[in-house]
Amino acid sequence: KQPLVQVKDLCKYFQINRHATLKAVDHVSFDIHKGETVGLVGESGCGKSTTGRCMIRLYEPTEGEVIYDGKDITKLSKEEQKKFCQKVQMIFQNPYASLNPRMTVKEIVGEGIKHHGLAGKDVDQKVEELLETVGLNKDHMSRFPHEFSGGQRQRIGIARALSVDPEFIICDEPISALDVSVQAQVINMLKELQETRELTYLFIAHDLSVVKYISDRVVVMYLGTIVETAETEELYSNPMHPYTKALLSAIPEADPDKAKSNKRIPIKGEIPSPINPKEGCRFAGRCQYATERCHQETPQAREVKPGHVVACHLMDEQ
Ligand code: SF4
Ligand code: MG
Repeated sequence: KQPLVQVKDLCKYFQINRHATLKAVDHVSFDIHKGETVGLVGESGCGKSTTGRCMIRLYEPTEGEVIYDGKDITKLSKEEQKKFCQKVQMIFQNPYASLNPRMTVKEIVGEGIKHHGLAGKDVDQKVEELLETVGLNKDHMSRFPHEFSGGQRQRIGIARALSVDPEFIICDEPISALDVSVQAQVINMLKELQETRELTYLFIAHDLSVVKYISDRVVVMYLGTIVETAETEELYSNPMHPYTKALLSAIPEADPDKAKSNKRIPIKGEIPSPINPKEGCRFAGRCQYATERCHQETPQAREVKPGHVVACHLMDEQ
């Protein structure tokens, strides 16, 4: 079956000056099937958000394409573009910055509904329903964003996204700015909404434990490229790329028996700059297995096992 979303060889470059190109996203490809949650993980600055923004046309890709429901999203007619804006929504990391401070909750959530031709009392009723869906209520309708806690603001952001009845939601670190105490509530709510509304998610995060909990499949990014993709179970039990292994070893293990055997693998050095990246593997400067070849030749993504794709020269020896 055709995937709902296909990201093909996507590149997003920013020209800093005549000599410097920031390659935020560099030949990234992955698919998302209907009803699936794909986790997109990596350290900050690896290009996760830029990828997400290209997928909703907040950025135009430099190269490559994003196919939604069989159509290239940069080549839609006006009518198709309107439909696309309704089907695809984004939930942002900072729920405060993404809500207009001068609009009431009713106006914020009601905006999307009005686009669908509802008016007056019908809008009020739909807003009320949506607020209840996200754990708020009609008493909150006439209030402004600053009157809410971070968790409540993210709920308003989610209600706004739901107001247009979307199919696909890009969640860009939706809980990383929230108090730990409310993170689980918001994640569980997103999970429930997915089931009741048959939503498809791209879930962007730097926190691997959150991604494990919510995702069916995981895509690991490093410095603008994808290093590994696999089903969640497989990725967490059998990571193959040295970067993924190091990331996973840094997750605290709750079980003390396992914690003893679970040695933390240090990643040496800082994440390098994505400006004018060198030839070869992007991870080479920090990888304990790096050879001469790694510094010269860019490893290609290879399906090592069904559904498990790794971009690392070590895989050639297997
Ligand atoms: Fe390490 Fe080389 Fe694999 Fe890159 S290609 S992750 S440098 S072993
Ligand atoms: Mg980001």
